[in-house]
Amino acid sequence: MSFSTKILLLQEAKMTPEEKEVAYVVYVISAILFAMIFAKKIFYFFEMAYVEYINKRLFYNHIYFRKRALSNSQRSILRQYIHFYNQLSLKHKSFFEHRVYQFMKRTEFIGKDINVTDEMKVLIAGTAVKLTFGLRDYHIKSVERIIFYPDEFYSETNKAYHKGEFNLGYKALVFSWKDVLYGYEIEDDNLNLAVHEFTHAIHFYYMRVRRQSTSSAIFLDSFVELTNLLDGSPELKLKLVKSKFLRDYAFTNQFEFLSVIIETFIESPDVFKGQFPRIYNKVKSMLNFNFAGY
Ligand SMILES: [Zn+2]
Repeated sequence: MSFSTKILLLQEAKMTPEEKEVAYVVYVISAILFAMIFAKKIFYFFEMAYVEYINKRLFYNHIYFRKRALSNSQRSILRQYIHFYNQLSLKHKSFFEHRVYQFMKRTEFIGKDINVTDEMKVLIAGTAVKLTFGLRDYHIKSVERIIFYPDEFYSETNKAYHKGEFNLGYKALVFSWKDVLYGYEIEDDNLNLAVHEFTHAIHFYYMRVRRQSTSSAIFLDSFVELTNLLDGSPELKLKLVKSKFLRDYAFTNQFEFLSVIIETFIESPDVFKGQFPRIYNKVKSMLNFNFAGY
């Protein structure tokens, strides 16, 4: 008998019945926790394999243990600005609200020369939730704070005036509130500042968690398929560039291309689908956007 086993037996012999009961409970809880962690790992392994090799679909998207609801006034802000929300079923509306609630709870909102209102919080949270609603991983950890300016602001990063900015180092999205509203005023001009900047944040976050997140795998793998489609069909690429359907800024680099194409997808799905169906389907697959209107 080894020395350590002897010590264990001695300790056990000295235990009172109450202590033995506590030890038993601790043992059972540890076993359950271990089994849960193991089951979770197995689940992700199979879901990732399914997404990568069979079909870009999650095994489930919405399961919440304590579903939270918004206040009536917050709900009416969603109704006013987020057309996507209005199209959802009642069940999906409640999931959407839960995600908006969680986003607002974990995000710090800062106003620079402007008071942060519920309208600002709900509109920004609603934008983030809309973009990730087809995916399960909606907690975009590259954004911990939202900073609002009333108008264009001077960016120390680029030494220029900006309407919006994603600051990866500071985990912040910075917005000119006037321009966020302007993005929502005209729904089909393919310009939406909040959608544009959030797409940058989602893109960076998903690149960081690609191996652990099946949502990220769907998003990034579909984006690779989209770029492969364009690289493999020069005529399609030329048609896209010449059509001016995407504004010129899209062709600055792959990050701007992604943000502009998602802005366009969100704002003009019907025209997009009609003119470039193959490209449209790749973007739809990135966001797993099987919802009314898309
Ligand atoms: Zn951009």
